[in-house]
Amino acid sequence: MQSEKTFRNIDGLIDKAKVILVAGHEMPDGDCMGSSLALASILKRSGKSVTVFKEDRYPFNYMFLEGSQDNTDALPENDPDLFIILDSGSPERVGPRLFERMQASKAPKVLFDHHVQSDDKKTWYDAAYVDESACATSAIIYRWAKDRGIKLEKNEAEAIYAGIISDTGGLKYGSTDKEAFLILADLVDLVKPWHIASQIYENIPEKQLRMLSEILADMRMLAGGKAAVIKITLDQFERYSMHPDNVDSFVNFARSIKGVSIAMRFREKAPGLWKVSMRTRDGIDASVIAAGFGGGGHRNAAGFLFEGSFEQGLLKVEEILKSVYE
Ligand code: 5GP
Ligand code: MN
Repeated sequence: MQSEKTFRNIDGLIDKAKVILVAGHEMPDGDCMGSSLALASILKRSGKSVTVFKEDRYPFNYMFLEGSQDNTDALPENDPDLFIILDSGSPERVGPRLFERMQASKAPKVLFDHHVQSDDKKTWYDAAYVDESACATSAIIYRWAKDRGIKLEKNEAEAIYAGIISDTGGLKYGSTDKEAFLILADLVDLVKPWHIASQIYENIPEKQLRMLSEILADMRMLAGGKAAVIKITLDQFERYSMHPDNVDSFVNFARSIKGVSIAMRFREKAPGLWKVSMRTRDGIDASVIAAGFGGGGHRNAAGFLFEGSFEQGLLKVEEILKSVYE
């Protein structure tokens, strides 16, 4: 069904369900995690039996959130009465196992999201609330809780607060809007901003910073300094004993360089297979470039998979840059 700017259909399905599975997308970020934990906590308080599923581990710097251990990467034996998916407009992004399970299940599926939805995905969920202009899915969960007249508990406020901080880059990205400030201001009664900020940003393992310095030393500048590309290899992950969520922020260093409007991070997933994360500014639409590679995303943050060597990837990127800048 088409998504609507009302929670009525979603609430109808939630009210009927006893056993609910809540999940975000694979490679979860702080927003996906925060919105999942906040929603799960609220549903549990209202007497539901809730399982939070995640395909991959939660980001290390959000593990301070209450409930961060109370979830599973094993699918429950029996189907829930309802699947609630957060922050993952493309249903496949929940990961292959849950996607297959949802496809096979007759239980209704609900979506809360702020990603651009392609036309062929719009009818996949039984009920959806999608607002592409929302700064974070966590902000949508806040709207839903307010709409239902729910008074948030401290742990829920912290999860929503952290989710908004995550998706707005600490209130710095273009997605930062008045609602982000209004929600955070409202939550400050229950949340200590410095506590959250220090957990997210000043809690980095030393090895992660050593790895970053190696990666930045090897950064490539393209298009006369308008683009910066970094690469992270499987060998580096192994040598520094780091996990993909440790390198999530690295691409931001590339975008922070004066004159750079397109930054890319090639992360080796398997030999010859790269997950590319793109960050743009100055009016360059990352989602359009990513779509050219079969991926997608937002205006300033998008991604895609690339098969081939890193050098081949660079050549392809140079081709694309030519078409963007000429
Ligand atoms: P990240 O670079 O942090 O992995 O992803 C940034 C954004 O790009 C995400 O919010 C997501 O919407 C989008 N994205 C990343 N990778 C892919 C992909 O392979 N396919 C699609 N459709 N979107 C992606
Ligand atoms: Mn999000």
